[in-house]
Amino acid sequence: MLAFAQEGVPLAETTLLSNMERLAQESSALEPDSVANWQAMAELRPGAGATEDVWLHLVASTAVPLTCQRCMTTVVTPLEVDQWYRFVATEDIAMAEDDESEEDLLVMEPQFDLLNLLEDELLMALPLVPMHDACPVALVLQAGEDELAGDADESAAKEGKPNPFAVLAQLKKK
Ligand SMILES: [Zn+2]
Repeated sequence: MLAFAQEGVPLAETTLLSNMERLAQESSALEPDSVANWQAMAELRPGAGATEDVWLHLVASTAVPLTCQRCMTTVVTPLEVDQWYRFVATEDIAMAEDDESEEDLLVMEPQFDLLNLLEDELLMALPLVPMHDACPVALVLQAGEDELAGDADESAAKEGKPNPFAVLAQLKKK
């Protein structure tokens, strides 16, 4: 990760969702070619002490098929990740500084698992209750039509009602 930060060259990757086992388990009907597009970039910034801190920026986007909890059919749910992390030397430092840090803190490890972090973030981005904005079932469509008809009635009623300013104008003419 330090070498990655020193290089400062962003990494752009595409990862099959089926390679992320925990995320794949949450999904209802994963297409074999479903992917997450992600980009990682690390940089060095002056730290509190004499050394520089390693910061990591992770951006990812994907769409995961989940089960809608209203109609129980598949709802393809977009997931977005955009997160900054700062690496610290030990778990103790991470615990101590976590509350006052806006960025997430990660413990520096010799072999940092970026894909694991990406999967963690995508799992956290999952909605608690996956649901369609509008469920694609007949019952709900019908309700939607009734609602539209209701709106039409309402505007007709508005048209039928005399405009108070028009009434005033009439009175003035008289
Ligand atoms: Zn639904």
